[in-house]
Amino acid sequence: MKHVPDTPTAKAPAERFTGDVYLNLIETPSEPARLAVGLVRFTPGARTNWHSHALGQTLCITDGVGLVGTRDGNVVRVSAGETVKCPAGEEHWHGATDTTLMAHLAMVVGDGNGDGTSWLEPVTDEQYAAALATIGH
Ligand code: MN
Repeated sequence: MKHVPDTPTAKAPAERFTGDVYLNLIETPSEPARLAVGLVRFTPGARTNWHSHALGQTLCITDGVGLVGTRDGNVVRVSAGETVKCPAGEEHWHGATDTTLMAHLAMVVGDGNGDGTSWLEPVTDEQYAAALATIGH
């Protein structure tokens, strides 16, 4: 076995995230493996841009409380222990609430040309506020 005592924490890039988000790469696959795993930690108010995954994504919430939203206006409140599966091609975002941290393991299967994620525009403050309202924040 290979014991990895720690992985570096990097600040997630501002062109793909709003607010302060920290990323640890847990698994970076090499062919033929394609499963990439990242631990992503969102501070209050932080979230991804809108995006989609060519072959889908599984999110396992490990800490805190957050939200996952889709273009149809559906918003799910998520907390530690819960899992969300984002189907292939569905545009969505994920992040913390305005008052809580949220951390998740993000598992994505690459499409043979990178991790298959297509990054889009930021989630606006108005979209974020509307999402918070749907979960009672
Ligand atoms: Mn995603």
